[in-house]
Amino acid sequence: MEKSYLDSTPDENGFFGKYGGAFIPPQLEKAFAEINVAYDKLSKSHEFRHELKKIRKHYQGRPTPVYYAKNLSEFVGGGQIYLKREDLNHTGAHKLNHCMAEALIAKHLGKKKLIAETGAGQHGVALATAAAYFGLECDIYMGEVDIAKEHPNVVRMKILGATVIPATHGLKTLKEAVDSAFDAYVGDSENSLYAIGSVVGPHPFPKMVRDFQSIVGREAREQFMEMSDGQLPDHAVACVGGGSNAMGLFSGFIDDPVKLHGVEPLGVGTKLGQHAASLTYGEEGIMHGFNSIMLKDEKGEPAPVYSVGSGIDYPSVGPEHAYLRDIGRTIVGTCNDEDAIDAFYKLSQLEGIIPALESAHAVAYAMKLAKENPKDSILVNLSGRGDKDIDFVVEKYPIPIL
Ligand SMILES: *Cc1c(COP(=O)(O)O)cnc(C)c1O
Repeated sequence: MEKSYLDSTPDENGFFGKYGGAFIPPQLEKAFAEINVAYDKLSKSHEFRHELKKIRKHYQGRPTPVYYAKNLSEFVGGGQIYLKREDLNHTGAHKLNHCMAEALIAKHLGKKKLIAETGAGQHGVALATAAAYFGLECDIYMGEVDIAKEHPNVVRMKILGATVIPATHGLKTLKEAVDSAFDAYVGDSENSLYAIGSVVGPHPFPKMVRDFQSIVGREAREQFMEMSDGQLPDHAVACVGGGSNAMGLFSGFIDDPVKLHGVEPLGVGTKLGQHAASLTYGEEGIMHGFNSIMLKDEKGEPAPVYSVGSGIDYPSVGPEHAYLRDIGRTIVGTCNDEDAIDAFYKLSQLEGIIPALESAHAVAYAMKLAKENPKDSILVNLSGRGDKDIDFVVEKYPIPIL
């Protein structure tokens, strides 16, 4: 029998075509090999799968529903927009799907501690939640500048029992947090597991995180077909930062005749530093341990990036997204701050659903797609809820009267 796409990609070294791999310091080779072997074994183990299934159902609240956004669709006056409601997942976003599974791997490996970096704090909060559930210690590295900016998430992590460790060198943001977290892991990989927050990083994380997120696409496919007399959607749409919520949704439809759209943040302009549209404007390069498409500055270092959605302002992208784009399986689109804010308010006022600013990028893109394709159905991954964004949004963008 021919192997399915998901079973055959990436190859055993973690390559999606020329992208991916594991470019890590020699001191970490053993630790990543251990994770790789463990994942291979656990992903086939009935006990592991059963445990994960139980957690998803009873703790996370899965399956999350698929909702037909009738009011929004009628407002746009075109195609039909459906939402996969990952905002209703425990902690309010899709991230817990992979964090719970990573923590379960740590538990099986007998590790005592989870280590990670976080930018805006979303990954940190999801991982701190998983650590609390499994009784593991949790060290979250975060740039000093981000700690000051993202106060509520810092407080949440601390309440959940995690230790938030400031990265105080360089620009004191995400890149420095990654450096510090990696250093800590090099020093303590016997006792700890480094838990990456998206389909990025060295092999096996892009594959592993995709597999853990694929529950989103599997559920959504079944739910959509049940609502639509066995029909598939014409389009599946998701925002892309690192690309985990997008790969989660796409996995469910990868072997189907469904158009897959990844939406990158165009921020406030097309110049370097104004956006985080890595696939759209980037070039091939290695950072954070994997080969992909990245935004580089004049020195070839990861460029500064910007988006109103702080969870999607990443200067690279998961290697699988680069590959799927190259082979023509996915379509890469963009959405700027202004359109994302508009969609944020539209979905709130027309449907009573306040989306995360990241997810609002996908909603805005879907609204355009619906307008251009009045006969089509469009399934959007609503990756998270917007409670975390409300104070920032109302301060900067006055509430519109519909
Ligand atoms: C972190 C985050 C994202 C971006 O991460 P991906 O790995 O690109 O999915 C998107 N939406 C929400 C709500 C997030 O918290």
